[in-house]
Amino acid sequence: MFCFQCQETAKNTGCTVKGVCGKPEETANLQDLLIYALRGIAVYGEKAKELGIHDKETGLFVAQGLFTTITNANWDNDRFVALIKEAFKQRDALKEKFLVAYKEKNGKDFDEKLHDSAIWFSDNADEFNEKAKSVGVLSTENEDVRSLRELLIIGLKGVAAYADHAALLGFEKEAIYDFIMEALASTTKDLSVDDMVALVMKAGEVSVNTMALLDQANTTAYGNPEITEVNIGVGKNPGILISGHDLKDMEELLEQTKGTGVDVYTHGEMLPANYYPAFKKYDHFFGNYGNAWYHQNKEFESFNGPILMTTNCIIPIKKNNTYQDRIFTTGMTGYPGVKHISDRLDGGSKDFSGIIEKAKTCNTPTEIETGKIVGGFAHNQVIALADKVVDAVKSGAIKRFVVMAGCDGRQKSRSYYTEVAEKLPRDTVILTAGCAKYRYNKLDLGDIGGIPRVLDAGQCNDSYSLVVIALKLKEVFELDNINDLPISYDIAWYEQKAVAVLLALLFLGVKGIRLGPTLPAFLSPNVVKVLVDKFDIKPIGTVETDIEAMMAGK
Ligand code: SF4
Ligand code: SF4
Repeated sequence: MFCFQCQETAKNTGCTVKGVCGKPEETANLQDLLIYALRGIAVYGEKAKELGIHDKETGLFVAQGLFTTITNANWDNDRFVALIKEAFKQRDALKEKFLVAYKEKNGKDFDEKLHDSAIWFSDNADEFNEKAKSVGVLSTENEDVRSLRELLIIGLKGVAAYADHAALLGFEKEAIYDFIMEALASTTKDLSVDDMVALVMKAGEVSVNTMALLDQANTTAYGNPEITEVNIGVGKNPGILISGHDLKDMEELLEQTKGTGVDVYTHGEMLPANYYPAFKKYDHFFGNYGNAWYHQNKEFESFNGPILMTTNCIIPIKKNNTYQDRIFTTGMTGYPGVKHISDRLDGGSKDFSGIIEKAKTCNTPTEIETGKIVGGFAHNQVIALADKVVDAVKSGAIKRFVVMAGCDGRQKSRSYYTEVAEKLPRDTVILTAGCAKYRYNKLDLGDIGGIPRVLDAGQCNDSYSLVVIALKLKEVFELDNINDLPISYDIAWYEQKAVAVLLALLFLGVKGIRLGPTLPAFLSPNVVKVLVDKFDIKPIGTVETDIEAMMAGK
């Protein structure tokens, strides 16, 4: 195996024996083969598009396939085998449509030689492992080509996850699926470096559009997030803990638990569900329990009740645990030996009755902390406060905004972000989104004239809100360039959705981003050089030097 898609990859080079995340070699190989099969679909997808065929169903399937390979999303080898087999079926169906349309247009059969990913087939799972060994990341020998291809595919995985969430709420855009096809198909061709860089930039544009679509989907369905105090203690009823990003699952779980005597708590990236008006009407929506994803081995123990994982991040369950029989997966996530809640059928709802019945037999959650945290500062809410914010900037009460969006993770060096939050001057405001916030959202950092010093916009996809806020400030201050705003970017990354967010920021022309705790291993020295020259991206340094530089606008 060889995998270097996340921040904690071995020696910041690549996992080769087993993932630092725990991913076994066989799972890594199956994921490689799934990506290869999706590239094969994309070869036909791109060609079909040229003939005016846009197949939404296949587009969504490719997006979901990419999504399953995100770090800590799915560990179930059987699921990957099934997805690979389904990918071959989808490829054949699209091929048929293309061949017919081609013949109609050209009056002859299509006879071009295609890339192996569009041809290779087996329905024998034993052969999958063997084939996987020759189609993974290292099959691209040139280090820079490999780096650009993987940067594109890794960014696409984030885009795909966001596209899937939007699709579940009924919001889809052909252009997003078309680009996923174009980008995946590009990795089967010998392109110039300039063309590959252009595709990476286009991925940034598509990432902005996809996050905007998801924002539209979420706010249309559940209203605009609003300032909210979230209880982080526990109640007296048994509870269900819901984690991940899927708000549709959240809605259906709240609806089905109504009047059952079971409370609902969020965990990890689901915390921002507390900010949506549509969910506030449920009295049994108690609050948030615990912290970022990597604390789950401990926090799922003490929660005592069932846990529903709607997306990443689910991490390996330790041998000595008490929660394997009360954790459930759904959607694109999965774990061997863990019960999976099936997808909705024909516009119906998922059936969470098994989880609810289980909850009734469980003890109430053990209290691990008490108090409240404040969030809900997505674009609509911040823009409603725009006058106050602008006055505070004009009067000098707010000197600088520091965007510390992104991910949390288990590496010790991430204490950097807590320290930056603690040591930033009191006239700065931290804008955040994603699970990075858990590094500082429970500190008492105070407020500036009633504006909290940590403004949490929501999940990592809500980084889009931070972009909208920045563009609004640019307009209010009548600036030509987003980089003239008093905003610094000190981004933490862990997995592939954060890469999609990063590409979005680059596409919008944001310069001088600090990225940590380490630069991605999939960036070759030459690709890093391009990013440094073009965008002044830099690794994080020490807390003190970075704060000093950011306050000086560097
Ligand atoms: S996802 Fe990250 S930790 Fe897991 S195998 Fe890949 S690079 Fe390694
Ligand atoms: S914030 Fe980062 S680690 Fe957390 S779910 Fe989003 S991408 Fe993953």
